[in-house]
Amino acid sequence: AKSAGGAGWALYDAERDGREQARQELSAAIPAGLERGEFFLDYQPLTSLHDGSLLGVEALVRWRHPRLGVLRPDKFIGLAEETGLIVQLGGWVLAEACREAVGWTSTSGQPPYVSVNLAVRQVRRPGLVQEVRSLLRRTGLPPNRLQLEITESTMMTTSEEPVRALRALADLGIRIAIDDFGTGYSNLAYLRDLPVTELKVAGEFVRGLRTPEALADERILASLVSLAHALDLTVTAEGVETGGQAERLRAIGCDAGQGWHFGRPASPDHILARIR
Ligand code: C2E
Ligand code: CA
Ligand code: CA
Repeated sequence: AKSAGGAGWALYDAERDGREQARQELSAAIPAGLERGEFFLDYQPLTSLHDGSLLGVEALVRWRHPRLGVLRPDKFIGLAEETGLIVQLGGWVLAEACREAVGWTSTSGQPPYVSVNLAVRQVRRPGLVQEVRSLLRRTGLPPNRLQLEITESTMMTTSEEPVRALRALADLGIRIAIDDFGTGYSNLAYLRDLPVTELKVAGEFVRGLRTPEALADERILASLVSLAHALDLTVTAEGVETGGQAERLRAIGCDAGQGWHFGRPASPDHILARIR
């Protein structure tokens, strides 16, 4: 048994080394992938729960890897954050999203805003505000058509830098959303200190709605909504998969929904067709 255990450990280590090597190779391939145009964005609708209109779309990055096929962000975003390559990759996402969103005008109604995920490192890096400002100037996208999604972990620092950067961005007229709200550890003080416009409530609070076990989720959602509305913030519920959930969320007072019920992430052409 002892030797089997030993062999097991040896096997485990080899496997882990292999995985680690694969991760490093993947990470090292990001800059070349960017150069060769292997990354692209899908967009997912953010839909009003009041009238069903398209309020915005979230940009979600994908990697058409020459050998591994299309990779979801879960496969490479964490890596890019660890290595710092997220600054380069995230910069590309931001620019591409603004470039594509400029064309989304409609003859009737408000054109949707584009919502872009920002990694912790991107917000903490000096120069973000300048980057965004020149991007808006270059593309001509009005600031109120750009939303930046940050997570609670972005605010878990004693540094003043992220707060200053986000204030400057909000002063430009850009919308700021807290992503996956309710899943991180944080105090709520940043809601007071930051010019946040929207809370995106994580899908895990939505999933069980309308089942008897979800009474607690429903109460949590209802209190999040009243907290948000008291602070003049809108609430978007993520992971809405059924009409029943959407109806419950509307009754609870959520403003917007995102999820398969309203539309899966889709190509820019699909989004454009939907706007027209
Ligand atoms: P997220 O920001 O929470 O994005 C929502 C994720 O939920 C997306 O997965 C989306 O496809 C998925 N989703 C949407 N509707 C439903 C639904 O009804 N049910 C379920 N089960 N899932 C749904 P995706 O595209 O795989 O993205 C995963 C995560 O990767 C994102 O989570 C975000 O944290 C990160 N990510 C994506 N693009 C970027 C980016 O450009 N920069 C950074 N820093 N992170 C990104
Ligand atoms: Ca997000
Ligand atoms: Ca989210």
